[in-house]
Amino acid sequence: MQPSEAQSTLDYTIDLVTSHFVNVLYFDLGRYLIAAGAMTAALLIFRGYAKARQIQKRKANRGDYIREISSSLRTVFVFFVTTLATIIGVEFGVINLKIDSAPLLTVAWHFALIVLLHDAYFYWIHRAMHTKRLFKATHLHHHKSRTPTPWTAYSFSTWEAAVEAAFVPLFLLITSMMGIAFAGFAMFLFLWNMIIRNVMAHAGHELFPAGWLDIPVLRWISTTTHHDLHHSSGYNFGFYFTWWDKWMGTEHPRYAEAFNANAKPLPFPKVTRQLAERVSVICAALLAAGVTLNGWLIAAEPGLI
Ligand SMILES: [Zn+2]
Ligand SMILES: [Zn+2]
Repeated sequence: MQPSEAQSTLDYTIDLVTSHFVNVLYFDLGRYLIAAGAMTAALLIFRGYAKARQIQKRKANRGDYIREISSSLRTVFVFFVTTLATIIGVEFGVINLKIDSAPLLTVAWHFALIVLLHDAYFYWIHRAMHTKRLFKATHLHHHKSRTPTPWTAYSFSTWEAAVEAAFVPLFLLITSMMGIAFAGFAMFLFLWNMIIRNVMAHAGHELFPAGWLDIPVLRWISTTTHHDLHHSSGYNFGFYFTWWDKWMGTEHPRYAEAFNANAKPLPFPKVTRQLAERVSVICAALLAAGVTLNGWLIAAEPGLI
């Protein structure tokens, strides 16, 4: 490359970084603050319900919250750098990400693919980080939270944050090499789904309805008790699903028992319960519509990211 060419490439990269800086920071920091903040608010608003479903007797103290929030902000910074690098990769044509709208079916299978692969990636790097050789340097920091809170979601050491953040660019590099133009909207959904499931896993209170494990299909979707047991006992390494733990024999032997003890049925009369169910369905629909609208706006106006 000629010096002038190198210079213009550098200028172009700097331009890209400065033009995307605020939006990427807003997107990466916003996800954590919105998800953890909303969960904290929900637990406060429904405190009676939350108290009945509290998983551990022990409560996180002030020091835990300070450590979790400050190290999560460090993780946000690592994610921010990775997102910027990914955007630069897209602009230079190294990464093939289809920002404009894609058919719903494409979005659906791209989303399913990335969630399944991320679940496997998480399980195996998590198992690796629990080995004697790696634990102290990588994962000990996350386990300082013995009683998880919504703010534990990103509480990682810098090394762990880097390994967690590496998944998206690695995944996109591989799909690009395979000639797949990954749908930007599927990525948007994946990132939101990831932080929401992460905050739910660390909520400290069982959020899933009583009887969840009695339905075979739903049993594969991990609950709050599932990951809480990981923090208190060391079993259960999976993230979204329980199958890797089942297949590898790492599921807590009394997982179902613990879940059933935590997931108390709602203590409301039948009519109120039906009303609450309807309201929750409407809220979920509004949330889905909001996320979809947000995604379409980004798909229509890629400059937003
Ligand atoms: Zn762990
Ligand atoms: Zn955790």
